[in-house]
Amino acid sequence: MTEIVFATGNPGKAREVAMMFADMDVCVKTLNEAGIEAEIVENGSTFMENACIKAETIARYTDKIVLADDSGLVIDYLNGEPGIYSARYMGEDTSYDIKNRNILDRMEDVPDDQRSARFVCAMAAVMPDGEVIKTEGVMEGRIGHEIAGKNGFGYDPIFFLPEFEQSSAQITPEEKNEVSHRGKALRLMQEELRKRIRG
Ligand code: IMP
Repeated sequence: MTEIVFATGNPGKAREVAMMFADMDVCVKTLNEAGIEAEIVENGSTFMENACIKAETIARYTDKIVLADDSGLVIDYLNGEPGIYSARYMGEDTSYDIKNRNILDRMEDVPDDQRSARFVCAMAAVMPDGEVIKTEGVMEGRIGHEIAGKNGFGYDPIFFLPEFEQSSAQITPEEKNEVSHRGKALRLMQEELRKRIRG
């Protein structure tokens, strides 16, 4: 069985990734499970730069495949905010209930056709021989008018998906994996890893 170390401390993301790899003979470990403690300085200016920084930092601590992602919510009306600062928006320790309410307040009275937004996920894998594989996925939607749903995490309760007529916190985790930025980036990554793991 091939081990993949997923460079995240976010249990919501780790769950989604482990679920996606369920059909492959690989075991996905979080940093905690792999016993790796490292300081990652996420100072890139794009999602992809940050994903590579995370994967390359962790790869110094292990000879296993290291996978990392960087993702976030890009809101057109707010000039791309919170973007690469999605986790840090209003402070890392501020609850998503407060962050989400703040975004809804900032967009009060903004009509639907100006509420376009997308989740973006950049994914990078560092192979044991040093090769770096990069993939990216996007999920388009718009900012809703209220907090809705209990599934998912982060900004899901305010992210409205027109094709479901629900927020990404109201659809099931399986439905979200089908259409999500992370699901798309990960499926592309799986294809690349399959080629290499099977030789
Ligand atoms: P990262 O851990 O640096 O990639 O930060 C990602 C941040 O973007 C998360 O902490 C969330 O705030 C937000 N985010 C990314 N993907 C999702 C998602 O699928 N649902 C809700 N929020 C997300």
